[in-house]
Amino acid sequence: MGHCGKLEALLTAYVDGEASARDCAAVAAHLAECRPCRRRAAIEQAVRQVLRARAGTIRGGAPDALRARCLALAARVRGKGDKPC
Ligand SMILES: [Zn+2]
Repeated sequence: MGHCGKLEALLTAYVDGEASARDCAAVAAHLAECRPCRRRAAIEQAVRQVLRARAGTIRGGAPDALRARCLALAARVRGKGDKPC
């Protein structure tokens, strides 16, 4: 490990899907072995899902917004034995 600082700079682009293939692979490889960063990435992703869902609502309710909300809910209930959605 030890490159968490570097990862932090790439994480935003990674969760936005804007990282280059090379950066994306580097982030994925680091996340695979670094739990704190994985947690961070999950939080970043959750925040983006909410923002995206809200943007969809403002624009009149895109199906993507619903899907994002479903995915967020599914992620939350997973592990508790509940059925997602
Ligand atoms: Zn890390």
